[in-house]
Amino acid sequence: MDPITALLHDVLEDIRPHDDGAPAGYIPELAAADPDRLALAVVGPRGRVRAVGDVTHEFTIQSISKPFVLALALADRGRDAVLRKVGAEPSGEPFNAISLEPGTGRPANPMVNAGAIATSALIPGDGVDDRMTRIVEGLSAFAGRSLWVDEQVYASESATGDRNRALAHLLRSHGIIEGSVEIAVETYFRQCSLLVTVRDLAVMSATLAFGGLNPVTGERVVSEAVARDVLSIMASCGMYDYSGEWLLRVGLPAKSGVSGGLLAVAPSQFGVAAFSPRLDEHGNSVRAIALLETLGERFGMHLLEPH
Ligand code: GLU
Repeated sequence: MDPITALLHDVLEDIRPHDDGAPAGYIPELAAADPDRLALAVVGPRGRVRAVGDVTHEFTIQSISKPFVLALALADRGRDAVLRKVGAEPSGEPFNAISLEPGTGRPANPMVNAGAIATSALIPGDGVDDRMTRIVEGLSAFAGRSLWVDEQVYASESATGDRNRALAHLLRSHGIIEGSVEIAVETYFRQCSLLVTVRDLAVMSATLAFGGLNPVTGERVVSEAVARDVLSIMASCGMYDYSGEWLLRVGLPAKSGVSGGLLAVAPSQFGVAAFSPRLDEHGNSVRAIALLETLGERFGMHLLEPH
């Protein structure tokens, strides 16, 4: 085992005994997740992947799709067009809050559900299939392998998605969504249901860390300007209503999801991701946070301290 993998292994085993929190319970597929799964992966500048724990275990990407679909919307529509439909201010509210700007109806930012649905609605394409083709190709390019949708999770998301559907109708009433509400919201449910591993998330994170260039495949996925915009929004809004404290403690742009995934980006250095399904009261993975906090401290990764 090389020294970095050995270090990751030690960090993982230190954190393993933590058993606070519980898997998300809003759909049966997430509630049935094995709470003891644990994984950690890091991808460096030359595209070398180091991963420990349940590295091949697949789970749905959920909210971690949001920054990557934002990247595609920025690439396809430009920053001004995106900002006309969704803001860039931390809401300090839970992910599913009805936080729309008075007057314009713009969601606070693209990392809360309302903003993510507005962002998905900006992906070009006539129907769900067209838009999903762009999203699957785009997110697969970030991950460096072909991703696909867990149809059972998608069916559950869609069957129980009344709140997201209500948000989408509100967005349409303000002209934030211009086309079909159903297409926007089903696209969003499908993007949340893409299956990934911790390795995929680390490669996706590394692609943002290296300015939109995937260090494993060598493919330019988005421009440096788009990657920088996405990281800026992740830094202030990526961890639900824990985003401010996360920036204080860890100091890296990050995004979490309700299935227990978490990725963080150390620009020009590496992408890192962790997975553990037990969540805290904010919807963030307890052990994934602990893993990344520990790594951050060991490597002195806080972006706002002198290097
Ligand atoms: N599909 C979930 C929802 O929109 C994703 C939530 C999340 O990961 O935060 O409710």
